Amino acid sequence: MSKNVGGTLFLVATPIGNLEDITYRAVKVLNSVDLIAAEDTRKTKILLDHYNINKPMTSYYSYNEKARSPQLIEKLLAGQSIALVSDAGTPGISDPAFHIVQQALENGILIIPIPGPTAFISGLIVSGLPTDRFVFEGFLPLKKGRKTKFESLKLESRTIILYESPHRIRKTLTEIQNYFGNRNVVVARELTKKFEEIVRGPIQLVLSELEKKEPRGEYVVIIEGASRKSNLDISSG
Ligand code: SAM
Repeated sequence: MSKNVGGTLFLVATPIGNLEDITYRAVKVLNSVDLIAAEDTRKTKILLDHYNINKPMTSYYSYNEKARSPQLIEKLLAGQSIALVSDAGTPGISDPAFHIVQQALENGILIIPIPGPTAFISGLIVSGLPTDRFVFEGFLPLKKGRKTKFESLKLESRTIILYESPHRIRKTLTEIQNYFGNRNVVVARELTKKFEEIVRGPIQLVLSELEKKEPRGEYVVIIEGASRKSNLDISSG
């Protein structure tokens, strides 16, 4: 094993809504680093202000990560320590981090995870669907590859987890019903926030619940695996 060089890259999980969902260690690390690389510096500033953390920030998001990674690596090699945070939850989970992690590894830089919230884990554990085996698919492809993805997941026996936006939630659930039949699904909305809501039941009934008001906020969709019959009556709360 080669010896690490330079500073440390910390991948720090931050809240997915409720600002209190942050670990003591995350606050300590954010307070100790030389620089915070944030997906959206304005959003992260709200969190930093809440915890009286005053540190220089730079942006690191999907459109600049390839260009920004070498610049951050240079700082790390010069001995600086950097915390990477995303808008919400865990960096690298449907959020940028992959490029800098690859480059940090190539350069022998130490990477330390600071674990915390991830929306899909919170959704899964309250779903009532099996948690022993699951597959996280993140956002489905919007056009190319979407049909193939549904086809490939049709016989998946593990619980399937997706991320979805309010604009597409009804369309995606309708497609799931068309491909998978009237399976049990759970739609977890605005987790940890004021309007947190979890709707469980057969897709058809969940869809009719979603017709009652305009979808808003952020969604995790949890789908029962093929041939795993769970006991989920329609419930919302
Ligand atoms: N890195 C994040 C994580 O660890 O969960 C995910 C970031 S991804 C760009 C944003 C998506 O995550 C949203 O569109 C939604 O599907 C899901 N999400 C994030 N926060 C959520 C919340 N509070 N409730 C439900 N879903 C959420």
